[in-house]
Amino acid sequence: MSPPITLPSNIDSSRIIRADYADPAYAALAAEAQEHWRGQWGADGRYHEVGLCLTAEPGKEDYVVKSLENVRALEGLRREAAAAGGRQGGGAAGEGTKIQLLHSPSDIRAALHTGGSIGSSGYLNLSSGWADAEASMRYLRSLVAATKRVTFLTDTVTRLLFSPDTTKVTGAHLASNKTLTADLTILAAGAWSPTLLDLRGIAAARGQCIGYMRVTAEEAARFAKAPVVLDLSSGMYVFPPSADGMVKVAWHSFGWANPVSIPHPERRVSGASGHAEGTGEGGKEERITVSVPRTSHQRPAQQPIPREGQQAIHAFLSQTHPALANRSFARTRLCWYTDTPLGDFLITYHPRYDGLFVATGGSGHGFKFAPVIGDKIVEILLGKSEVMAEGGWGRRWGWPTERLAEGGWTLDGSRGGGKGMVLGEEEGERRAAKL
Ligand SMILES: Cc1cc2nc3c(=O)[nH]c(=O)nc-3n(C[C@H](O)[C@H](O)[C@H](O)COP(=O)(O)OP(=O)(O)OC[C@H]3O[C@@H](n4cnc5c(N)ncnc54)[C@H](O)[C@@H]3O)c2cc1C
Repeated sequence: MSPPITLPSNIDSSRIIRADYADPAYAALAAEAQEHWRGQWGADGRYHEVGLCLTAEPGKEDYVVKSLENVRALEGLRREAAAAGGRQGGGAAGEGTKIQLLHSPSDIRAALHTGGSIGSSGYLNLSSGWADAEASMRYLRSLVAATKRVTFLTDTVTRLLFSPDTTKVTGAHLASNKTLTADLTILAAGAWSPTLLDLRGIAAARGQCIGYMRVTAEEAARFAKAPVVLDLSSGMYVFPPSADGMVKVAWHSFGWANPVSIPHPERRVSGASGHAEGTGEGGKEERITVSVPRTSHQRPAQQPIPREGQQAIHAFLSQTHPALANRSFARTRLCWYTDTPLGDFLITYHPRYDGLFVATGGSGHGFKFAPVIGDKIVEILLGKSEVMAEGGWGRRWGWPTERLAEGGWTLDGSRGGGKGMVLGEEEGERRAAKL
């Protein structure tokens, strides 16, 4: 279901499509997805395999080193498959490597094609790239519509419906005051999921800073050969110019929370009228505090980002794109990740409520898996033995055995910035405050 008032994290100009993961399991799953991006998913200009340059500073190379190991192994497998006459991916048999090692800032400068450099070492992987996120979501929707087995409904879920004894989820209540009832309800509301289910200590919304710089036609031509750049010491990344002359730059950070007190989503038992009654012990409304996305639809003008984010973006650009170091933002945006403690998806039946399945926890890296994640969700939903076996995704993405305080979340080792940032407001401008 797609609501009119929220801006999902999948809609935007661009998303990195990479198998460059420090974790070999995610690297392999992403490589599987990439095969689709190189095919129909990426057709009509939706996917651009322009390369991804990963960089790091001394002492912070761990993610890059592991990722390099994984993409080299994957490249070897692709070559073997191609040599054996199997499916061909980014590297056909006899083709040279698509991975170039970058040993120094000057190697990185040569790879960037922007006049700048970042980090001390890294590598360029020419079999990674970026996808047009909005166009890809339109494509996905057309695939689903073509099955003629799905009815689309545009509305906002205000709460889940529970059976009177609260052991079962029976559907959802909508902003239009309608209710939908179902034997199985799948909650896949991205960063809004924690407003519909108590996910404290399991999944949380975090705002991430994005800036867009307008470039001249001459600059766009100059940066045309630039790869996507991801600096894993700072978590900063930047895309080549888009067709409309924008350079998008963003911070893959621990992000900003927006704590809001909301009625406990699992204690809002539906009354005879179908309206939420908001009950708790002794009839008093029970409330919880969770981070709730603030989106540009709620504040339609230019969406400000915290000053620290603005500074980080400019500092990064002064290294990668010196020509843009002092350029004002054409646009800024806060985009909302659904983080989990280790950066894993949360794809599982709810342990307490029959009839409820959860598919969320994209943790800022879920988009690239769009061509393959649906199959995994269905396998887990059906309890297929391979996916549910020891070491299978079903175990890894299952409901955690304990809720972990957010200060202890490490994510997957790819984030920059500090932990514990909270959005604030001062003189009408959003600012960052340390908790
Ligand atoms: C700034 C940013 C950069 C990213 N960069 C990358 C990247 O480079 N590469 C990559 O692979 N991934 C990236 N990601 C992650 C990726 O976009 C997400 O992991 C992915 O979109 C998550 O998909 P989702 O379906 O779980 O959530 P979403 O994409 O947010 O979709 C959730 C859906 O639920 C709907 N919804 C929410 N609340 C309600 C409600 N109450 N009622 C009805 N519907 C509701 C929303 O409108 C939306 O349609 C990035 C994310 C962000 C925010």
